[in-house]
Amino acid sequence: MSVLISGCFGFIAKHIIHDLLDQKYKIIGTVRSQEEREKLYKQFGNNSNLTLEIVEDIRKEHAFDDVFKKHSQEIKYVLHTASPYDLETTKFTEELYKPAVFGTRAILNAIEKYGSDTVERFVHTSSYAAIMDFETERVEGTVYTENSWNPDNWDQAQECASRAYNGSKVLAEKEVWNFVKEKEGKVKFKVTTINPGYVLGPQTFDEDISKKLNTSCEIINKLIHTDPSSEINPSEIYGCFVNVLDVSKAHILAFQRDELIGKRLLMSEGRFSTQDVLDVLNEDFSVLKGKIPIGYPGTGAMHHNIGATVDNSETHRLLNFKFKSFKETIDETAEQILRVENRQ
Ligand code: NDP
Repeated sequence: MSVLISGCFGFIAKHIIHDLLDQKYKIIGTVRSQEEREKLYKQFGNNSNLTLEIVEDIRKEHAFDDVFKKHSQEIKYVLHTASPYDLETTKFTEELYKPAVFGTRAILNAIEKYGSDTVERFVHTSSYAAIMDFETERVEGTVYTENSWNPDNWDQAQECASRAYNGSKVLAEKEVWNFVKEKEGKVKFKVTTINPGYVLGPQTFDEDISKKLNTSCEIINKLIHTDPSSEINPSEIYGCFVNVLDVSKAHILAFQRDELIGKRLLMSEGRFSTQDVLDVLNEDFSVLKGKIPIGYPGTGAMHHNIGATVDNSETHRLLNFKFKSFKETIDETAEQILRVENRQ
């Protein structure tokens, strides 16, 4: 039996593929183009346990039908990671809402049509964005848990790209929970959602280091390439983080462990701000000395949290493994970038 993973060319998905192949799972993955397919086959050494199918655009109503029609008897677990994390778009409905919400609907409908008896588990890559409230994120005393919900509807989410992205994620996650409630008895699968904060860490392959990285890792990449004289806002980024290797592990445990059924896993190993990233880069990489801004060392969110906090003790209890630290995570990310750029 196989694991179906959507969005296989993504930052998080590649780690999941890597870890699942290590555990000898068979994977049916979706990518957007023939070019992505060929590149991914090559990156994973033409592993015979990896089969890739093309799903060009998850916004289309029947986007996943062909894949499920073709492989319906093989697919036991579904990991739906595909969704745009793009904070530069101005077309919020086209580029954020539709792929997130319609894409989720499309994969759920395809399972109902072609895999209602075979698919047992559905793991949805949601986000901390579906948990936090844009209005209270920087209000001291706010505490988010696995039971917190971003209260925005799509109208309220129009303020900026970040808020729209958060809105797209909460509305997509609601599609999932509503679907299983409505279809009780009609589909067999059980749901777990993964709700990570900023997912940081190395790319699965060194060759994926490029001038611009995926949205979350670009936070670190951008700072590594910022001139020391530039004005930076030390709390431009303010949120919680988790290492990508831990996020990959959680996706896999989510379908392996029964106690994770019906749970939202709020993955955070603490809060950070731009300043905290600068502090680790300046402390741990001598090659960056004098090459990047210093800011105001020791004043970041790790030392002086100015807003919401996260209580994810339930997630830690359920997952029962130690998450990687901030320093380890920034070090791993920066080390790879600098190595690829021959700047060590
Ligand atoms: P990436 O941008 O690296 O991956 C997103 C994937 O979704 C890509 O493979 C992309 O394909 C695919 N995709 C986007 N739009 C479409 C579309 N219209 N049709 C088909 N495929 C599409 O991001 P991440 O790996 O960081 O994100 C993966 C998931 O994790 C997303 O659901 C994101 O919301 C969630 N997440 C990410 C966090 C982070 O900090 N990185 C934090 C919390 C949640 P292509 O590359 O070809 O465009």
